[in-house]
Amino acid sequence: MSRIGLDIDSTLHHYWDLLESIAERRFGVSLPYESQHDWGITELQPDQLRACVEETHSEHNILGAEPYAGAVEAVRGWHAAGHFVHVTSHRAPHTEEATARWLRSIGLPYDDLRCSYDKVSRCVELGIDVLVDDSPVNLAAARERGMLGATIVHPWNRRLVAHDPGVVGAGDWIELRRRVEPLLAPGAEPLRAPSEHGRT
Ligand SMILES: [Mg+2]
Repeated sequence: MSRIGLDIDSTLHHYWDLLESIAERRFGVSLPYESQHDWGITELQPDQLRACVEETHSEHNILGAEPYAGAVEAVRGWHAAGHFVHVTSHRAPHTEEATARWLRSIGLPYDDLRCSYDKVSRCVELGIDVLVDDSPVNLAAARERGMLGATIVHPWNRRLVAHDPGVVGAGDWIELRRRVEPLLAPGAEPLRAPSEHGRT
């Protein structure tokens, strides 16, 4: 059985529109989705960005998130097949209770939940095999530690998906489920860090 790490924002639900609307309302800054080609958001000062992200993680906003079509069904299928599901979100620890309530409300089963800022090291501790996460920074760090990556493709992770065969990218959860499942199957290819590609 495999062990899956599962991000929330921009992975289980479309987070960007919420962040963009908060940035616009609070600071008059527009953050067009299609122009966001990098992980860093330079249009906002660091403290402005922090304030916006914090507001996206209010109880109201956490509980209002609508999962991507097919996401819950895919994770239910993986969990029912016996795979370990670790839900991991880069948000303050005090949001964990609301996050757990949201996961229950959408019917997403999991074995472990962590809201914190040490995502990849926690995945290493838990022996995660595949990290499903949209952040190119997290995906690259996970790859360096021998995990496979998978993501919904967004403008900010397109380049990584194109260049690292160990990161599966998909346009939606129907395709993501189909592409990730062979990686979870018993006897799937042993996991390889990028540095091992091409070695004899
Ligand atoms: Mg995310």
